[in-house]
Formats: sequence, C-alpha cells, structure tokens
Amino acid sequence: MTSIDRYAVFGYPIKHSKSPRIHQIFAEQTGQSLEYSPQEVPAEQFSAAVARFFAEAGKGLNCTIPLKELAWAYADKKTERAQLSKAVNTLALQADGSILGDNTDGIGLITDLMTNHAISLAGSRILILGAGGASRGIIVPLLEQSPHSIVIANRTIDKAVNLATEFQDKGSISGCGFSNLKNQQFDLILNATSTSLSGQLPPLPECLLAKNGVCYDLAYSNEPTVFVRWGLENHAVKSLDGLGMLVEQAAEAFFIWRGVRPETRPVIELLDSERKPTQFTT
Ligand code: NDP
Repeated sequence: MTSIDRYAVFGYPIKHSKSPRIHQIFAEQTGQSLEYSPQEVPAEQFSAAVARFFAEAGKGLNCTIPLKELAWAYADKKTERAQLSKAVNTLALQADGSILGDNTDGIGLITDLMTNHAISLAGSRILILGAGGASRGIIVPLLEQSPHSIVIANRTIDKAVNLATEFQDKGSISGCGFSNLKNQQFDLILNATSTSLSGQLPPLPECLLAKNGVCYDLAYSNEPTVFVRWGLENHAVKSLDGLGMLVEQAAEAFFIWRGVRPETRPVIELLDSERKPTQFTT
C-alpha cells in the first residue's frame, strides 16, 4: 500500500495560518501528491509532538510563532542560514533518518522585495524595527545584498544592540532604541515587531522615511496594517505587507521537501485578490 506524504505546520495559535492553503496550491500546481495540515502545538508539547509526527512517517514540518527557537534546538543538523539565525521554520526528514533544520524566512523576504517588487537593496539605508526571531532571520540575507547600513531599533534596547553586535563582522550594522531615530532617514523601513498583530505602531519620529523610500511590514492582514498605513501617510513609493514573504518562504520550504520549485506569483495574486483593498501601493 502506498501512503500519501505527510507535512504539517505547528504553531500556537495556528487557526488562521494560510500555509495549508498555500502548500495545497503548490502541490496541485506541481503535480505533487501530499497532505499538509495545521496542528496547534503549545511550546511545552513541541518536542513530543515533533517526535510523534516523524515516528508516524511525517516527511516535513513548518514551525511558526512561538516554536522557531525550539525547532532550532530540535534539529539534528542545520543549514548555515538556520545556524546563524538561531531559529528554524522548516524541518525536513533526511534519507538517514536525521532531521534537517532550515530558516527560509530571510530568503522569502529578499525574493519578495527584489524579485516581486523590484526593490534594490544595494547601497540602501535599512531600518529594521524589532529584534525578535523574525528580525534575527532576515539580517544576514539583507547584509548579503550590500546595503549602505542596517539599523535595528527595538523597545528593549539591549536586544537591538546585542543583535547588531552579533552580526557586526558581516556589514555595517548597529542597534538602538526608537528615541535614537530622530534626525535619521532610511530608504527601506521593515517592521519586524509584532505590533501590527495588535493594531499598534512603534513610536516613530517624523521624516524617518527618505524620499522615494519603501515600507514593508512582515506581518500581513486582510486589511492594510497600521504600519502599511503609516508608510502610505509618509509618502512611501511602496508600502507592502508580508503576504509575499509568506508565500516565498513557503515555496522555499516546498523546494527543500520536494525538490520542485512552485510558481509563487499566481499564488500571491490569488491570495491578494481575496482581500480588500487589493492595492496597497501608492
Ligand atoms: P517575536 O515575538 O520574536 O518579536 C517581537 C518583536 O516585537 C520584539 O522586538 C518586541 O520588542 C517587539 N514588540 C512587541 N510588542 C511591542 C510593542 N508594543 N511596542 C514595540 N515593540 C514591540 O516575534 P517574531 O520576530 O517572530 O515576529 C515578528 C513579526 O513578523 C510578526 O508580526 C510575525 O507575524 C511576522 N513574521 C512574518 C513572516 C512572513 O512570512 N510574512 C515570517 C516571520 C514573522 P521587545 O524585544 O522589546 O519585546
């Protein structure tokens, strides 16, 4: 008897995840036969749930908030980008039975910015708001694009400073608090705080966004997030949310598991068309 290959996304909460839908569309598009289900897994049950999933012939897992650091600790082996980010969003069963951990968030963001939105990062002044797991995952991929500089601003200032120190041998990067942003300007502002999820905005000074600047909220929603709206009010040429990043990081995970690269553009367009308003770009 041949059984269908099983994949899942673990998170807490997980009800609103778009990942099952995205992977189902990828599977149909590429003719791959697989099943992908959401599972609500509290942090304290994570290890047991992952062990059970792979013992029951599961092939691969996505892990989301608040499980990425636990997934990093669980993986037997890690890719270099996962090792550096200390967070894993993709676990893959290997031929020898070991579990490989990867982090596809950073490449997902870079692909969405550069390929989908034609945003050039070389020489740009980048501000990252937030110093949590998502911020950690995007720093090295951003530095690899040779920006002029990256500033990380965070509510807990020590976290921003420590994170910047960790990566200082890879490029021009510094950390600070929100109040230190006065009189500075950036070409690209990325919101990697979780404030959008509660309809809030970090305290941002006026004139923070340079002329022709771009805003990007890693969070995504059916309505423009508070930060996407802030970008529009501050004359961003583009003010985007993280839907494209979500689809791109999923495509990278799909490739790791199946060795086939799905087409992302029709999936982003489909999911975007299902929300209102459909156009976030000025
Ligand atoms: P974490 O919980 O690891 O980090 C949260 C960050 O937000 C911290 O820097 C925290 O600051 C800051 N923060 C929380 N509340 C406030 C507040 N009221 N005011 C100012 N700062 C605040 O979350 P993640 O890094 O994992 O996720 C961040 C965001 O990125 C989420 O919205 C998530 O949905 C999104 N994301 C999107 C992805 C995509 O594919 N589109 C992929 C990954 C993440 P402090 O350190 O002071 O607590």
